[in-house]
Amino acid sequence: MSAELIDGKAVAAEIDQRAGQAGAELSKALGRAPCLAVVLIGDDPASDVYVRSKVKRTEAAGMTSIEIRRPADVSQAEVVEIVRGLNSDSGVDGILVQMPLPGHIDSNAVISAIDPDKDVDGLTEVSAGRLLLGKPGLRPCTPAGCVLLAERAMGSLSGKSVVVIGRSILVGKPAALLFLEQNATVTIAHSRTHDLAALTRTADIVVAAVGRPQMVRGDWIKPGACVLDVGINRVDAPERGEGRTRLVGDVAFDEAVAHAGWITPVPGGIGPMTIAMLLRNTVLAAAARAGLDRPA
Ligand code: NDP
Repeated sequence: MSAELIDGKAVAAEIDQRAGQAGAELSKALGRAPCLAVVLIGDDPASDVYVRSKVKRTEAAGMTSIEIRRPADVSQAEVVEIVRGLNSDSGVDGILVQMPLPGHIDSNAVISAIDPDKDVDGLTEVSAGRLLLGKPGLRPCTPAGCVLLAERAMGSLSGKSVVVIGRSILVGKPAALLFLEQNATVTIAHSRTHDLAALTRTADIVVAAVGRPQMVRGDWIKPGACVLDVGINRVDAPERGEGRTRLVGDVAFDEAVAHAGWITPVPGGIGPMTIAMLLRNTVLAAAARAGLDRPA
């Protein structure tokens, strides 16, 4: 048996397009396009690539973006002030502060300054509380992308057993709550979990969000399960030439593909979905702030 590949790139392109259409509809009511503000502190090359990509896809979907950059030695107070300025700017619908921030800045202090109604990353305490309480709100992008891809593959998730490996605030915990919201039966595993392989083997859906290259082996996967590989790990690839590297997930793809029913590749699986969900959140934030119906 060989698993069906879940093409995150194609689904993300579709979501971008739908967000663009919904954004165009909203523009008529708002008198302007939905707007995402991205704050980038410092010159981390990976963050720079992410921000460029977010801005590019926002604009390609016909929405507006504002990019605010400051050097790495900017004070925490100034970053908080930037966020507050964006909160009170009625022309801004979504605010994203690119992580990680330089060491001298408390990222919690910055995140908690974001107006929850503009929190398109879904990272504020208010957004987390809304998710936990099952109230409407902006959901974290990567986990929301996982749920959407699982639904695309399997249809209804009601009653499915899900093992989420990883309990980070960014991925594991919100992923577990989002699957629960879809009436799945969810187990969260982490570094202290006993016999992770046996537990994982019980799952209809496996979410691997660990940050350890290829940790989840093929024989951990129940035949026919849906495997969502969130991990992005850069490893040496001497077969590509000296000093070359490649990206791998947290799942040993070549093994798992023989067991799974569906599997996301790395790259091209969950990764592209994260930005798609960000665009969708920007549209949702714009509609909610204007008191308009939630776009489909
Ligand atoms: P964190 O490092 O914050 O969390 C990792 C989690 O994995 C922790 O809960 C940890 O458990 C658990 N863990 C570590 N080792 C083991 C082990 N041996 N067995 C079981 N569980 C273990 O990582 P993130 O959640 O932020 O990210 C996870 C991965 O996803 C990374 O590779 C990251 O790059 C990627 N990522 C990808 C995104 C995308 O867009 N595709 C977006 C965000 C992240 P404990 O809590 O006990 O320490």
